[in-house]
Amino acid sequence: MSSREWDECELVMISALEHWSYCPRQCVLIHIEQTFDENLYTLRGQAVHKRVDEPESEIVDGVRVERAVPLWSKRLGLIGRADVVEFHGEIPYPVEYKHGPRREKEHDDLQLCAQAICLEEMTEKPVPRGAIYHHSSRRRREVVFTPALRDRVADVVTQVRAMLVAKTLPPPVNDSRCRHCSLTEACMPSIIGEQQRAAELVRTLFVIPEPS
Ligand code: SF4
Repeated sequence: MSSREWDECELVMISALEHWSYCPRQCVLIHIEQTFDENLYTLRGQAVHKRVDEPESEIVDGVRVERAVPLWSKRLGLIGRADVVEFHGEIPYPVEYKHGPRREKEHDDLQLCAQAICLEEMTEKPVPRGAIYHHSSRRRREVVFTPALRDRVADVVTQVRAMLVAKTLPPPVNDSRCRHCSLTEACMPSIIGEQQRAAELVRTLFVIPEPS
């Protein structure tokens, strides 16, 4: 994919990849309808991000550490910010801070790999790996940016852009994800989900099967 000029409405926030991966409806509610209700999870997230939200630069054990680094990729039409970028020699190493226990989740990996793709374009240096830092366990999980993960990022960016440009609101997933979602009140997954199920029932109730 070569670089091109993107309209403002086509630019995709890196955080939208994570939201889309968790729930496409959540992504549209946050990035188009600007709905962002707070719950315990978002408040914890904010507490974890408080320090990394303040731009600063320091040397820790010989490694240059930059916080709150603006990111962009003209090639993918991506914009965002890295919590922390360490420079090991000249090689950038993004670190994303997460509240909650250590876990393996595609949405975290997509977000981190998108940061790496931006850093490669901005610095013209390879970025082969980065890490997710889990605040509660104080441990890092290293992520290797494989060709498959990079392709997945490009694919998800295309899907998210199409959804945001078309301004389509996907139906609620109405499953266990909703229990931890900060948008349940705005989204009403069970009410909307039940309405859609009822509409589907009504549509199919009087369909007389063709004789075989
Ligand atoms: S409440 Fe459920 S369906 Fe609604 S945005 Fe959150 S995860 Fe998605």
